[in-house]
Amino acid sequence: MTKEENRRVLTEIEAKQMLTEAGINCTTTRLASSREEAVSISEEIGYPVVLKVSSEDITHKSDSGGVKIDLPDSAAVEKAHDEIIASCSAYAPGAKIEGVSVQPMARKGTEVIIGMTRDDSFGPVIMFGLGGIFVEILKDVAFRIVPLEQKDAEEMISEIKGKKLLEGYRGLEPVNVACLQQMLLKLSDFVHATPGIEEIDMNPVIAYRNDAVVVDARIILSS
Ligand code: ADP
Ligand code: MG
Repeated sequence: MTKEENRRVLTEIEAKQMLTEAGINCTTTRLASSREEAVSISEEIGYPVVLKVSSEDITHKSDSGGVKIDLPDSAAVEKAHDEIIASCSAYAPGAKIEGVSVQPMARKGTEVIIGMTRDDSFGPVIMFGLGGIFVEILKDVAFRIVPLEQKDAEEMISEIKGKKLLEGYRGLEPVNVACLQQMLLKLSDFVHATPGIEEIDMNPVIAYRNDAVVVDARIILSS
């Protein structure tokens, strides 16, 4: 529980577990409590891997130097582990750091954001947008009230202004829109069936020609 708000933020590993159980495709993400364990998990997963700080007190992991991507070998994993722990301990003194999470590096694709928030009048709503500046600066996002129908999922993706980017740009493959619609519907079903969730952030989801995968997830439980 965060003291001021009396809410509980799940770690990326916990959030991905819940979403995976709901049938949403997430990168397999495991906790390493030591440098050695980070290496042994990386060897099992296969390189390249991504390491991130795992701490219930640190939710924006990049801001604290807590994310290292595209690590090619064990030496890089050892170095990244030590740098993440040092940087996050300095950035957030007193934060309880349980270790680092290890996951496969997803290949390059189109980054989108899918989430759920609560509206005062309408209750839970699902959100879809393109990654990065499109959401943060241009506010190019679509919302629909839970539970979504197929038509809602179709409209959400077709009504965003930047939708052309899903057709492939700068050498990126076109995105499988049906697969993103499926993800929106599965998230809606999950939210509809699961009381006590305040907010969900799947940011980013990386989308490809054939599928899409959640590489970062955050869930906030209601108090
Ligand atoms: P933050 O807590 O700062 O949002 P993220 O987990 O989203 O941290 O990581 C930051 C960025 O690193 C992501 O926006 C994405 O571009 C990249 N990234 C994270 N995980 C992966 C992964 N498994 N494969 C490829 N890129 C990743
Ligand atoms: Mg993120």
